Amino acid sequence: MDKFNKREIAIYFTGGTISMTHDSETFGVVPASKFPKLIEELKLVMPEVSIRLIYWSDLPSPHITPGQMYRLAKDIELMLEDPSILGAVVIHGTDVMEETSYMLELVVDSPKPIVVTGAMRYYGEPGYDGLRNIICSVKACLSPESRNMGTMILMADRILSPHEAIKVHSSSLNAFDSPGGGSVGFSEGGHISFIRRPCNTGSFKFKGIETKVDLVKLNTGDEGNFIRFSKENGARGIVLEGFGAGNIPSGAVSAVEQTIKQGIPVVLVTCCIQGGVYPIYAYPGGGKALLCKGIILGGRLNGPKARILLMLAIGSNLTMNEIKEIFKSP
Ligand code: ASP
Repeated sequence: MDKFNKREIAIYFTGGTISMTHDSETFGVVPASKFPKLIEELKLVMPEVSIRLIYWSDLPSPHITPGQMYRLAKDIELMLEDPSILGAVVIHGTDVMEETSYMLELVVDSPKPIVVTGAMRYYGEPGYDGLRNIICSVKACLSPESRNMGTMILMADRILSPHEAIKVHSSSLNAFDSPGGGSVGFSEGGHISFIRRPCNTGSFKFKGIETKVDLVKLNTGDEGNFIRFSKENGARGIVLEGFGAGNIPSGAVSAVEQTIKQGIPVVLVTCCIQGGVYPIYAYPGGGKALLCKGIILGGRLNGPKARILLMLAIGSNLTMNEIKEIFKSP
């Protein structure tokens, strides 16, 4: 391959367990800059692949803010405009991988694939999964079928859609799943195969972010205190995590009504890991009653992802009606 038709994969390193080791002073697992070593190992296994490395950050993923996720998305979008770049692999901590992946899916406007991966075991731990996950992600990125697939998560040989994927296990190698959705593809026998298209989020690409959006989990007996607190602290939008098909305690209803009357978009999601919210129940606090009061139903999105979508919708200066439309087919 000569330098004029050289094709590269951009590998972004953002941090995570994949590059951490066990520390003898703190007796815990900490960031340890193992990424360069990991890339050396990758190059030994895949010498034919040209890699452009971007050390974007070295953050445990719970430290990554939505503002940083958005910046990462814009950086990758710019990188993908380079004709010699085929796609991007993003190495990320698994704790909030689903949020960053969903942000990339909603923001990056490119036909080139983005594959997000990480590791459940720290570098040097028996059964380390980091190298394998990166190898499979690079292969997925190189697969001609991955064009126009948008952003995907690849963990433990499975390819998942960011829209559906959640971290369902805190420590298992097979930590991610798409409850109710299933895999988009697999790494099997050394090859990548796709069995369906990822659940993409339409063609609308967001152009800004408003990070003052809170996610409030409602509890039994809730009287709306956290909703009021959020509003008084200047939230520009609120996502409420209610119960079942989208129902909240009656004591919280007046706080929701006051918030909506002030023009603050309030999105309702469910704490259930499968299914969504629907206008079924008309009792006080039921989804149907709340819809009549102007709440926005968050469909099948979970709380963290509905929050990302609301941040982008408000940040892109969408009107209340436009925000409602966006949540109809997130
Ligand atoms: N706590 C780590 C993180 O999200 C977990 C991981 O990378 O798997 O950064």
